[in-house]
Amino acid sequence: MAQIATHPSFQRFHTQVKKFNLSGKTLLIPEMVPFGSQLLASSFRAFDVDAVVMETYKGLALGKEFTSGKECFPCQITLGDILHHLKKEKERLGATFSPDRFVYFLPEAEGPCRFGMYNKLQRLVLDQFAEYHDIPISYISTDDGYSTNGILPPNQAQRLRKLGYVATIIADVLDRTVWRVRPYEYRPGITDEFMASGLNNMSRLIETHGASLPFTKAYDLLEDIVSTARGFIEQEKPRCPRIGIVGEIYLRSHPDSNQNIVRQLEGFGAEVIDASIGEWVNFITYDKVRKAGRKWRETLISGRFFMLKSVSRDWMGLCVEQFYQVWRQKQVYRRALRHLDIQPDHGIGVIEKRLNNNRLFSFDIGTEAALSIGGALEYIHEGFNGIVNVFPFTCMPSTVCSAILKPLLDEKRIPYLDAPYDGTFQPNRESALRTFMYQAKQHLEQRQKQKTN
Ligand code: SF4
Repeated sequence: MAQIATHPSFQRFHTQVKKFNLSGKTLLIPEMVPFGSQLLASSFRAFDVDAVVMETYKGLALGKEFTSGKECFPCQITLGDILHHLKKEKERLGATFSPDRFVYFLPEAEGPCRFGMYNKLQRLVLDQFAEYHDIPISYISTDDGYSTNGILPPNQAQRLRKLGYVATIIADVLDRTVWRVRPYEYRPGITDEFMASGLNNMSRLIETHGASLPFTKAYDLLEDIVSTARGFIEQEKPRCPRIGIVGEIYLRSHPDSNQNIVRQLEGFGAEVIDASIGEWVNFITYDKVRKAGRKWRETLISGRFFMLKSVSRDWMGLCVEQFYQVWRQKQVYRRALRHLDIQPDHGIGVIEKRLNNNRLFSFDIGTEAALSIGGALEYIHEGFNGIVNVFPFTCMPSTVCSAILKPLLDEKRIPYLDAPYDGTFQPNRESALRTFMYQAKQHLEQRQKQKTN
């Protein structure tokens, strides 16, 4: 790759990292969660955006080469993904490779975390290459609740947002179906084989029919998939200890970077539930509603009545959005629950209540730590037998989460494990997982004994 000597220009953060109109472009999406990323790409394709999920983790060496080592691990992985993909595209297209064709999609979040800086740092790296200099980076952000305005024409943006949300929840349910069935399948591998074809069918259906809401066809297909998968369960197999995963959203969702921790735990006899992507999206909206409500009260108390109308309108708009998300999520889960007892998702209000009752953390502090700590407490309330906190090495919110959860769960005598990752293989990881699972099995046995006594 031809590198050019450039002085970093911070102006480029405004001109080449923003919401670009994606119509007619090839949108390059980094994979975070296998089912979810595919269905998100299908949602874009439903609106004639040529969205592609890039091959992941193959370019990690490139990601590490162009970072200093101090960055968050997901930033190195996604940077590696885009550099690897563009390198392959250059080799494939040769002289016809044109940067005008591509837009790189990298969502962001408001602080205090560094996630909002990934796309800026990656802009600086892409700018070092003459061929990649003109490839824009587009995003959706927690700042405006993942609004899609500005990336599609106004008449399509709102529909894409609704479709993207429903596709995310469908992907969550597909994941939960796999986790509920795979530990008990009568033939090893049958669930994965079937779900791969189920995902393809869902992806094609969303691409073909997704732009014309409502979602009845997608719900019907989801029911078919879930009811077929239920048939793979060997009924005689006893229920395994249930393990809840919390932690940093990218690492816990991305199997390559967490060295396939869900399968590893399943291999040692667990039934695993990872926190969902829908939970995070709902948390963003919930938090916005809380803040808008607080602003409304402050406006009222301070007597700034001239602002009250616009503040009320914003608050109401967010409340409607929150209601829509909860309604859609329940609709999707209900279809699956008719056939299989998958784990329902945590309500964000319930998580906040658990946090407030324990007085150990608060939604006011924010970050994913709020969800992880509250989510772990909710798993415990639901009778889970162990909690694993999966995170990038040095991740700030997950370290906070660990500091609070470890003594708390120790006191409650619930098995707990920290699982930090940075791309290296720790020789003691397997024994840590085995020991943890041994404790989780004991926990399950004790609970069963208590019930029968
Ligand atoms: S959550 Fe962790 S990994 Fe993600 S940006 Fe924040 S510190 Fe980095």
